[in-house]
Amino acid sequence: MSEPLFRTPKGTHDVLPEDHQYMTYIKKAVRHRSRQAGYKRIDTPMFEYRGVFERGIGAHTDIVEKELFLVSGPRRKNQEVHSSNGEEEVEFALRPEFTAGICRAYIEHGMQQLPQPVELYSIGQCFRYDRPQKGRYRQFHQFDLEVIGLRDPSLDAQLIYVLTKILSDLRILDRLTLQMNNIGMTDNRIAYMQALRDYFIGKERHLPEEDARRLQTNPLRLLDSKHEDTQILLKNAPSLDQSLSDESRQFHATLLEYLDELGVAYVHNPRLVRGLDYYTQTVFEFWDSSSGAQNAIGGGGRYDGLIELLGGNPTPGVGFAGGIERMIWHMKEAGVTVPNKDQVDVFVAQLGPEAKKKCLSLVAQLRELGVHALGALGEASLKSQMRLADKFEATYTLLLGKLEVKEGTIILRDMRAGKQKQIPFGQAIPEVVELLGKQNLDTYVLRDGIGGVDED
Ligand code: AMP
Repeated sequence: MSEPLFRTPKGTHDVLPEDHQYMTYIKKAVRHRSRQAGYKRIDTPMFEYRGVFERGIGAHTDIVEKELFLVSGPRRKNQEVHSSNGEEEVEFALRPEFTAGICRAYIEHGMQQLPQPVELYSIGQCFRYDRPQKGRYRQFHQFDLEVIGLRDPSLDAQLIYVLTKILSDLRILDRLTLQMNNIGMTDNRIAYMQALRDYFIGKERHLPEEDARRLQTNPLRLLDSKHEDTQILLKNAPSLDQSLSDESRQFHATLLEYLDELGVAYVHNPRLVRGLDYYTQTVFEFWDSSSGAQNAIGGGGRYDGLIELLGGNPTPGVGFAGGIERMIWHMKEAGVTVPNKDQVDVFVAQLGPEAKKKCLSLVAQLRELGVHALGALGEASLKSQMRLADKFEATYTLLLGKLEVKEGTIILRDMRAGKQKQIPFGQAIPEVVELLGKQNLDTYVLRDGIGGVDED
């Protein structure tokens, strides 16, 4: 193999065909379960005005402060755009997540006029300029579900239920633990953040540098700090629980009751806060049961203030985002196999110009019927074409040499059994279809209600 001149940029990866089998499977489960529950698909741009994320997610969150991929177009002549701090202004940012963009779309398209709640889902790439490490990329895929327009714990419960269905379809639910918490409304949080700051007066110097800084900018994040020193100091700190209003407590208790009713297992985790500013009340994550916090496959929560922050009327919402790469990893770890739809059913080998011509239309007709057919490629000998059929792991080979053309026959070879027989040329297609079985044909129907079309 030659050394490539370029490789994928750090933190990105090619999704090769083998992983696409998993990716497609996950997308199918998401589409199916979302559709069943009344969610409609939305695609927002992969980049937005950076303010969408800065205002929505919060200027002092890791995602915005350290991980936002800023993008700008070519500078036009005489264009000088500077922000208030004198630095060159970059207008756009690649989306680090979906929620803020979807809420921007909800406002922009007047979706408050629609029957509420508006349920939307999306699947696609997200970008974070994070330090790449295992399970943490700079470009990765998420699927995302949002329920906007009403505040009721039954909506949180129904959303979580749909997610458990998707994870169970992927056969990884039993590897995960649902962590639940309620972080209160904004005023509860402000009161709690002040209480935390007060508690740490005189103790700041014992905090690791990162957490000392967070104490000023985003003290809630201390609760899920990875630093042991911080966790020890937190043992006697006031708990978030104590700052919650009766309404929040009631909301959480009712939500947990609904989850019990739906048979969803969870763990109440008073330390769970999530890394984005827009959350109010419910927060939840699905953690890898074996290794814990740092390996969440997805998370979400309620964001009753976000739409207002982005310029809309006060509108509640609840949503979730799941990391597709991490789900694929779990599926592989759990030994989940997914159907391979890229198999070669028939390889057509030929010799001579007449045979080649006939094979071209034979391949085309087989494909039309939903048989994955390859062949009539070049001028190679029959022997080397057979070797190729082997390498493609074709189930059957059809062989057409000069003699068969003359006789109006064709040879059908079962590659696994290593057996072959000569049949009339006109029999080739019905025989192959029969052998493969009608139910295994890859048919594609664009009409309503019949068959399915693979979406992206
Ligand atoms: P978050 O909203 O940040 O919790 O992200 C939701 C989910 O997306 C996480 O639980 C991960 O599964 C996935 N995710 C977030 N960031 C990354 C990343 N940098 N690389 C891969 N997956 C990620």
